[in-house]
Amino acid sequence: MNPANNIQDEHTFGEFGGVNPSISDSATYTFLAAKTMGDTFDGNSEGCYLYSRHTSPSNLHLSNTLAAMEGTESAHVTGSGMGAITSVLLQLCGAQDHIVSSRTIYGGTWAFMKNFLPRFAINTTFVDITSLEVVEAAITKNTKVIYCESVSNPLLEIANIPKLAELAKKHNLKLVVDNTFTPLIMSVNKLGADITIHSLTKFINGTNDTVGGVICADSEFINNLKSVMDGAAMLLGPVMDSYRSASILKNMRTLHVRMHKHSKNAQYVSEQLENDGIRVVYPGLKSHKNHEIIKSLYNSDFGFGGMLTIDAGNLETANQLMEAMQRKGVGFLAVSLGFYKTLFNAPGTGTSSEIPIEEQKDMGLNDGLIRFSMGLDHDIKRTYVRIRECLTEVGLFNPLLSTVNFNNGKVGQNKITTLTI
Ligand code: PLP
Repeated sequence: MNPANNIQDEHTFGEFGGVNPSISDSATYTFLAAKTMGDTFDGNSEGCYLYSRHTSPSNLHLSNTLAAMEGTESAHVTGSGMGAITSVLLQLCGAQDHIVSSRTIYGGTWAFMKNFLPRFAINTTFVDITSLEVVEAAITKNTKVIYCESVSNPLLEIANIPKLAELAKKHNLKLVVDNTFTPLIMSVNKLGADITIHSLTKFINGTNDTVGGVICADSEFINNLKSVMDGAAMLLGPVMDSYRSASILKNMRTLHVRMHKHSKNAQYVSEQLENDGIRVVYPGLKSHKNHEIIKSLYNSDFGFGGMLTIDAGNLETANQLMEAMQRKGVGFLAVSLGFYKTLFNAPGTGTSSEIPIEEQKDMGLNDGLIRFSMGLDHDIKRTYVRIRECLTEVGLFNPLLSTVNFNNGKVGQNKITTLTI
């Protein structure tokens, strides 16, 4: 399956032959026959709309396109990525149930599992998701879900989805995968996941003008989520507005071009950084500990993604470097990802700050880590010249010949390389 072709083949015309579907500007819908309204409430009236918290034509167009991209029977868009994650977990788990989750996940998801779900007597064990023995050992008789990110935030560890799917099947669990970092690159349902989640806020929308989310799964699960009786999405109400879903759908038309470019730029910058003696983590580098795994799983047309991290040694240097890069126009010091402009932040005090310092240390997240979401720069060599100037300014690179001293005692040697522009 090629997810980009699937997106292109999914098309709905608008009223009067418009090349984009019409935007549904209504919260409620009329019925000609009262019986049809009753049937729609019962979920038995295909093609009828009831109320926009349940679904709207615009949300359905976007959902169908996302289901086509992921190769699932169905999908349901939500008002944010967290709206998708919380709805899925509350649909799958009730009091006394248990989740086995990767410990390296988005800070908001981590906080939801750690701090919020225990109010409902739902508990989570956080594990190293790259160790299948550790994952299996954490499963109890109450476990309902194995949860992970395809490429984890922010450490960029790769989950071995087919192996995790085998474990999930063996223990009769649902494998839920957040695929936010790798749309098109990983088709996780095809690899064995039961439910795929995205924060649409990121690469899929790509313009940082809205938040959004989606749940992709089989029709039975999606219908259950939308049930007026006990569906988490219907009853918690994390709805996307129709205008926003119409706009995200239009942006999805260029997703394949953007992902290709994000990956190309990230690959180039990672290779240059590595050559310059900076400690860099990028799934497309041979030095990445899970490089062979991602190579066996990914859709190679779209590269290894736009996310990379570097280790600046300590928070002070990381902050100086990020401020310098913002001044020099490399990108913006901001959370989030998937924008045309490069975004960077230090996750220890930013996107993962919900995780206590001790636990951050345990999982290998140190405070000098900088996460980059590489932008769509036309001239990435020019950008790298600027990055290198910033590295030089904060003492992480010496263009003559330098030794990089990281606070944690590890020493790297800069190699002198010439950049051709
Ligand atoms: N999943 C990942 C991997 C994320 O990085 C984020 C947000 O940063 C989310 C989920 C949450 O998405 P949203 O901010 O759209 O609610």
